[in-house]
Amino acid sequence: GAGLHNPASARILAIANQKGGVGKTTTTINLATALAAIGQKVLIIDIDPQGNASTGFGIGRDDREKNVYGVLMGETTIHAAIHKTNIPQLDLVPSTADLSGAELELIELPRRSHRLYDAVSEVRADYDYILVDCPPSLNLLTLNAMVAVHAVIVPLQCEFFALEGLSMLIKTIERVRLTLNPGLEIQGVVLTMFDKRNNLSLQVAQDVRDFLGEKVYRTVIPRNVRISEAPSHGKPVLIYDHRCAGSQAYIRLASEVIRRERHLNAA
Ligand code: ADP
Ligand code: MG
Repeated sequence: GAGLHNPASARILAIANQKGGVGKTTTTINLATALAAIGQKVLIIDIDPQGNASTGFGIGRDDREKNVYGVLMGETTIHAAIHKTNIPQLDLVPSTADLSGAELELIELPRRSHRLYDAVSEVRADYDYILVDCPPSLNLLTLNAMVAVHAVIVPLQCEFFALEGLSMLIKTIERVRLTLNPGLEIQGVVLTMFDKRNNLSLQVAQDVRDFLGEKVYRTVIPRNVRISEAPSHGKPVLIYDHRCAGSQAYIRLASEVIRRERHLNAA
């Protein structure tokens, strides 16, 4: 097809940060939408019990009978749990509140850290990109994501404690690389909710760039009211208002992500 990647092997990315409210779900939704808009076939897997990525596409709670909980528990195939979104080329495996109990249940199951990996293996040939929206913790669900993916994208909110907790996330990724997933890496760090009129935002952005250097994407996602309005309309901001500053930023982020993927593939 027109995909930039060999359709026989999707690139698989987790959007992770154990802090809540930093823009993981927003980034997952809009990165996926931007990739789909340029012809990539994309699957989102929502593994946050809050199910915000599913809600963000207008997939109602009643319409999630087959979901990621069932997939991880081995009750449902991932094929059966794939829902179409209102965007062509973009599918989603929804999550439900059941997933909050999954951690304890997973511990009892064989291949408890590889449940998502095994499921993803069944559909990786069908997509160019698979994006996993992680919960706000470093639990067994997030570990399943880190085992299943090639790389992690880390959204960081431009606020005072932005870097707090980041070293723990980096250590976790390092540990997974040394044990369960030797290829794992951080693809990049994306600064979110940036407010250029706020000195603190500017300072935090500079500190993060000093600390992480090239790992930080050039694209910065601005704080933008259209981004926060879009989910209540069940639409990505890229569909809700494709011209707003937030949408334009996510389009630029998508092209940076693709460029880095090509670079990695060539390496
Ligand atoms: P997470 O998934 O990390 O918990 P979300 O993506 O759900 O974070 O974002 C948290 C809240 O902030 C949501 O209400 C979302 O709409 C809002 N938000 C995210 N990014 C932006 C932004 N760039 N500008 C304004 N609001 C944003
Ligand atoms: Mg979220």
